[in-house]
Amino acid sequence: LFAAGDVAGIEEASSAMIGGRIAGLAAAHRAGYLDDAAFQTQAEAARASLTQLRQGMFAKENRGRTDLTETEEGYELSQNLLAKGYVTEEELQAFPAASEKRGGVHPVIECTQNIPCNPCQDACKFGCIMVGRQITSIPQIEHGKRCTGCGMCVASCSGQAIFLVDDDYDETRAAITMAYEFLPYPEKGQKGTALSRAGRPLCEAEVLSLRKSAATDGTALLTIAVPKEFSMQARAFAFDGGVD
Ligand code: SF4
Ligand code: SF4
Repeated sequence: LFAAGDVAGIEEASSAMIGGRIAGLAAAHRAGYLDDAAFQTQAEAARASLTQLRQGMFAKENRGRTDLTETEEGYELSQNLLAKGYVTEEELQAFPAASEKRGGVHPVIECTQNIPCNPCQDACKFGCIMVGRQITSIPQIEHGKRCTGCGMCVASCSGQAIFLVDDDYDETRAAITMAYEFLPYPEKGQKGTALSRAGRPLCEAEVLSLRKSAATDGTALLTIAVPKEFSMQARAFAFDGGVD
């Protein structure tokens, strides 16, 4: 048996891919397509990559621990996320990338755990997002770089943790862009309800656009307008009548 992915142990996507590579190398070696030396060299390199991914709060030595209270950067861990599945607005205040407001369109990154993940950094061709050399680091916003609002970071975030916020959309409203994974898609001009991180109704929202293209790999990006005071709270959208 050559095992990879979640049957070999539940981790995240990058680890599953490398596990698959190791299983593939082992199968090729077993079938005589790779000699001993080539197998050892390539499998060793893949194992080294795995070791690099298995760092941070989800590292092997931390399994089962319930006493972790801070991220590697010293930010207080969200207890609400662990208990209820979402981070509260108060908890997000500790994370600069999630709480800093700036003029014009900019990313708000509500990513609060040291997971091995960095597609957001690679997706931004304008250098606005930095994870750095340690892949488990929490992404930071690079000040001094200008966000174009392209949405690639939103589309590439597997955790749906990135939103684009534009507090200057018009006199009274802010524009929020988020990944949207429900059908049917809302249409421009449609009215609905903006929801909080907890899924509770917040305020009226108007659909400004729904973008979907090959560049975003089919991920739909929904942009809604909400009253400015809700720009750091509105994180989901429901059609009128779709919320209890
Ligand atoms: S919207 Fe585009 S430019 Fe702005 S941070 Fe995301 S990827 Fe970078
Ligand atoms: S892609 Fe999303 S989940 Fe991954 S590090 Fe970036 S913000 Fe966090």
